[in-house]
Amino acid sequence: MEEKISKETTFKNATVVWKECLSLIKENVPFITYNTWFLPIKPVELLDKTLKVQVPNSYFIEWIDEHFNTLINKTIDQVLGGEGKLIYLISKEKEDELDLFDVDFPIKKENKEKTEDAVEETRAFDNYLNSRYTFDNFIKGEGNQLARAAAIAVSESPGETSFNPLFIYGGVGLGKTHLIQAIGNRIISNYKNKSVIYLSSDIFTVEFVEAIQSNTVNEFSNFYKSMDVLIIDDIQFLIGKEKTQDLFFHIFNTLHQLGKQIVLSSDKPPKDLRGLNERLISRFQWGLTADIQPPDFETRIAILKNKSQSFGISLSNEFLEYIAYNIKTNIRELEGCLVKLLANASLNSSDMNFELVKKTVKEIATVRNVNISIDYINKVVCEFFNVDENKVREKNRKKEVVLARQIAMYLSKKLTKSSLKTIGLHFGGRDHSTVIHAFNSVDRMISEDKSIKEIVDTIRNKIELGV
Ligand code: ADP
Ligand code: MG
Repeated sequence: MEEKISKETTFKNATVVWKECLSLIKENVPFITYNTWFLPIKPVELLDKTLKVQVPNSYFIEWIDEHFNTLINKTIDQVLGGEGKLIYLISKEKEDELDLFDVDFPIKKENKEKTEDAVEETRAFDNYLNSRYTFDNFIKGEGNQLARAAAIAVSESPGETSFNPLFIYGGVGLGKTHLIQAIGNRIISNYKNKSVIYLSSDIFTVEFVEAIQSNTVNEFSNFYKSMDVLIIDDIQFLIGKEKTQDLFFHIFNTLHQLGKQIVLSSDKPPKDLRGLNERLISRFQWGLTADIQPPDFETRIAILKNKSQSFGISLSNEFLEYIAYNIKTNIRELEGCLVKLLANASLNSSDMNFELVKKTVKEIATVRNVNISIDYINKVVCEFFNVDENKVREKNRKKEVVLARQIAMYLSKKLTKSSLKTIGLHFGGRDHSTVIHAFNSVDRMISEDKSIKEIVDTIRNKIELGV
């Protein structure tokens, strides 16, 4: 018998799923790109793992398809699983165009009390905070106790505690981004006049490069130096980027001297950030370093309960326990599992059965390792080194291009099942001996040079985890 699913439900589900997609996309593209191309997309409905979204015009579709095809596919795979599909509809009503679908993503902060005061005007900038990350929905557990307490202390009195910088580290999907954004969100709600900005060190680098190209490095640097609270996520991505590190060092010093709050996150503690300038590492240790450990079983259950409630699905304890038992080390995966269940069950609690829960948990576990393409590897490597993807395929012998090419070949061999011949073909038709040579050189460099190892590990993390 066919189940009647209301329009309201399919819209609600589409909204949840698209929100999840956006949060993944947001971490992978510069904010200008995100604002321009992704924010205007509106979810319409989710039916049978097909997500329909509305875009302003057909040019949009072409552009997204041309530039973000891999990212979109990967995101949809991650959120909806292999059978997930995205369909674009073109907006009919012109006036709809700027009407963002959800108040949860107000990227541009409106200056509420519009005064004549010019100083006030300049404060209306993009703070890049996602209002969904708060302390209220951050579940406390043994693994995050110190980090959470320090984060709360800092947001109550930014710049006034000895936790400056506050440096939070831990594995992927354990809540670093959530926690440091919660700091930002609490501060902007408690202190109307404090300027807060959040961004990942990746985006910081991209913006810096743009500033160099447009001759606005001074403005760029002064902008960050004028903040009351600077929150930088995933600082490990500054590894290997000397110029960006230098600039960041100056910004850090200025802010610290002025007693402004700095909050940083990383996948490892400062002392293990090999390849990062020593003077930065030492400064990162000036304040408080706190780690986040994987959640224990009870915390995982609490997180699942909290998230399923906010998604509007109710799951029996038995199901919650099964999920918590099988997904252990990554909260993003716990959450992903719920989103998938929601999509799979389309969307009636009565559809929820043990088979479905089991299947979904299994899907989550296998998604981790499949579908990494050579082109995607090349893209991430090139982004890291800031070299043009095509140069890597051409016969370019510039030092950084050669290194990028060799590392991309090395990782393609490590992370895909492709033959040496196939890998060679993807890199401008080079033969298999070139690939072996590249593999061996990188292998040797890794064992001889810790900073190369660090760089390769960092890129590998980015590729495997899509972060
Ligand atoms: P990280 O930055 O460490 O990779 P995130 O902060 O992105 O991890 O967390 C992954 C997901 O898990 C996010 O959606 C976040 O809201 C959620 N999450 C992480 N820790 C908690 C927690 N303690 N309570 C509730 N949700 C959490
Ligand atoms: Mg993060």
